[in-house]
Amino acid sequence: MRALTKLSAAPGLELVDRPEPVCGPRDVKIRVLRAGLCGTDLHLQQWDDWTAANVNPPLIIGHEFYGEVVQVGDDVEGIAEVRVGDRVSGEGHVVCGHCRNCRAGRRHVCINTSSVGVNRDGAFADYVVIPASNAWVQPADLDPDLGAIFDPLGNATHTALQWPMVGEDVLITGAGPIGVMAAAIARHAGARYICITDVSDYRLDLALQAGADCAVNVARERIAGAQQDLGLKEGFDLGLEMSGNPAALAEMIDNLNHGARVGLLGIPKADFPINWGRVITHMITLKGIYGREMYDTWYAMSSMLQTSPTLREAVSSVITHRFPVEQWADAFATARSGECGKVVMDFS
Ligand code: NAD
Ligand code: ZN
Repeated sequence: MRALTKLSAAPGLELVDRPEPVCGPRDVKIRVLRAGLCGTDLHLQQWDDWTAANVNPPLIIGHEFYGEVVQVGDDVEGIAEVRVGDRVSGEGHVVCGHCRNCRAGRRHVCINTSSVGVNRDGAFADYVVIPASNAWVQPADLDPDLGAIFDPLGNATHTALQWPMVGEDVLITGAGPIGVMAAAIARHAGARYICITDVSDYRLDLALQAGADCAVNVARERIAGAQQDLGLKEGFDLGLEMSGNPAALAEMIDNLNHGARVGLLGIPKADFPINWGRVITHMITLKGIYGREMYDTWYAMSSMLQTSPTLREAVSSVITHRFPVEQWADAFATARSGECGKVVMDFS
């Protein structure tokens, strides 16, 4: 089968012929139809300190995907409701099932999480094998592009729905695909004003289309000005940090109301100082967010998309480019350029 593979511990990727993966007794084998590109895949292409510490080549990369189940392991009956022919999206975090958190039903904080396309072979290939319980069965008529981005949509949903949203004024820093989808979710979930920041006008335009009320290009404007324009005297109630940029978090903290709550999804490259005095005296809650709740986040996003054509359209609008897998190098270059929303690859 075709497989986009990290062949050795060095920069680069290659589309090579690899044997099809073997479906274990508790697994499903999926014929991949579409797959989304994520920042992690760009890191994997590059080979940096993070990849050197986490990845053992050869490795098939890719973890955002949608496809059709072609084989179900012998022992799956009774542990997962998934059948040959089902269309599924994949939950890319494979958990152990026996650590303290797993046993308590908090699988998103499993201490032994292994990631599809990072710690085990991934989905930028004709076939991928995952535990059957990691397959999320989708409606048969779901748009395959949309099916391929449930993983990052889940990151956006997990962060945005961390606290009650109705009537809140929301500040999102970072209008990458996840920030844009978070704006769409916040709109759907009843936020009052949604303000989003980035340094890219292209991406800020996507966010406005997806439901944000105001966009701030922090390369030339300040959030305080937008806050004034919106008539917010006291600051934002909720912050969703989706850039990983220390300057973005600093400016967010400066523009929050007392008692505000912040979900930190963006992953900074290095440690950095923050204004702890303000966090403490303003009683600001900062909470790290990782992955998706298994499977509350999946239920929430599926239900919201099922009943809201507006949300479906807003989320779909984040997909700006689609390439056949043979043009994977163009797909990666486009994703790296930043002049895009979500980039997907077509394996069908
Ligand atoms: P992305 O890199 O496409 O988007 C980040 C955006 O932040 C970019 O558009 C960039 O221009 C913008 N940005 C840079 N500096 C900024 C600043 N000072 N102020 C505001 N915006 C700024 O990434 P994405 O796929 O949308 O993911 C968002 C973040 O979430 C990334 O940091 C990613 O690593 C992280 N992530 C975390 C998890 C998790 O489970 N915690 C999962 C997926 C992604
Ligand atoms: Zn566990």
